[in-house]
Amino acid sequence: AKKLGRNNFQFYTPTMNDEAQERVRIESALRSALERNEFVLHYQPQVNLATGQVVGMEALIRWQHPELGVVAPDRFISVAEETGLIVPIGAWVMRTACAQNKAWQDAGLGMLRVAVNLSARQFGAANLLADISDVLARTGLAPSLLEIELTESLFMSDVTLAVELLHSMKSLGVNLSIDDFGTGYSSLSYLSRFPIDVLKIDRSFVSDITRDANDAAIVASIIALAHNLKLSVIAEGVETAEQLDYLRRHGCDEMQGYYFSRPLAASAFEELLRQHKSL
Ligand code: C2E
Ligand code: CA
Ligand code: CA
Ligand code: CA
Repeated sequence: AKKLGRNNFQFYTPTMNDEAQERVRIESALRSALERNEFVLHYQPQVNLATGQVVGMEALIRWQHPELGVVAPDRFISVAEETGLIVPIGAWVMRTACAQNKAWQDAGLGMLRVAVNLSARQFGAANLLADISDVLARTGLAPSLLEIELTESLFMSDVTLAVELLHSMKSLGVNLSIDDFGTGYSSLSYLSRFPIDVLKIDRSFVSDITRDANDAAIVASIIALAHNLKLSVIAEGVETAEQLDYLRRHGCDEMQGYYFSRPLAASAFEELLRQHKSL
C-alpha cells in the first residue's frame, strides 16, 4: 500500500502493480533499444486513385526485439510518449525515413513522398524546426517529398501557438497532413486557419462504408470538405474492393491499406517499386 496522507491509503491491486512494473521495464528497454539500433521502419504504399500508381509511403516504426521478435508500435509508443523518449525516437524515424526515401530516389525508383507520424511531445519540443531542416539538409531530400502527419489533439491545448508552429513548419516546404481525421474533439474552424495540405480519413470510418450508411455519408462529406478547402484527401485502412470502389466514386485522391499492401520492410518495399506494382 502507498501512503497518500493521514488515514488515506491507496491499495494497488496486483494487476496495477504488474502494469506499473511493465512500464518501467519497457522504458529501460526502449532506452537500450535506441542505443542498440533495434528500431526499424516499415513502409506502407500510398496509391493515387486516378493513376493507380504508388505516389508515396507512410513510415511505421517497429521494434526488432532480440527475444520478443517484432514488437508493434501500439505496445511501446505510449510509454515512449509518457517518458519523453519519443523525442529521440521520433528524430531517428524522421532521419531514417528521409534518408531511405532519398536513396530510393537516387536509385531511380521515383520521386515519392514519405510520411512520418509526429507525436504531441515532439510537436511541443523546442528543437523541432531545427531538427526537420537539419534532416532535410543532411539527407538532401526535397522538402516537398516529406509529409508530416499530425493528429487533431496536438492543436487543442494552445491554438495560437499551434497556428504559429504549423506556419513555421510549412515555411520549410514540407507537407502537413491531419491523421485520423474525424476522430478527435476538434472544431472545423481550425481547418481554415491551419496551413494543412492533406486530410487522412480514419480507418474506423473506412472499414464500415459498405455496411453503415452513416459512415458512408461521413466519408463522402470529408472528401467534399477537403476538396472545397482545396486540400487533398487520402483514405487509410482500405481492405476491400468495395471500399475502394466507393472511395473512387466519391473522388478520393489516394488510398492506403491492406487491399493494396501491408506495411513492408524496406527491402520488400523496394521490390514493389522495382516491379512497378500498381492498383
Ligand atoms: P496510424 O498512424 O493511424 O497508422 C496506420 C496503422 O494502420 C498502422 O498500424 C498500419 O499498419 C495500419 N493499417 C494500414 N492499413 C491497414 C488496413 O488496411 N487494415 C488495418 N486493420 N490496419 C491497417 P501500425 O503500424 O501498427 O501503427 C499503429 C500506430 O502507431 C500508428 O497509427 C501511429 O499512431 C503509431 N506509430 C507508428 N509509427 C510511429 C512513429 O514512427 N511515430 C509515432 N509517433 N507514432 C507511430
Ligand atoms: Ca499515421
Ligand atoms: Ca489512423
Ligand atoms: Ca493513430
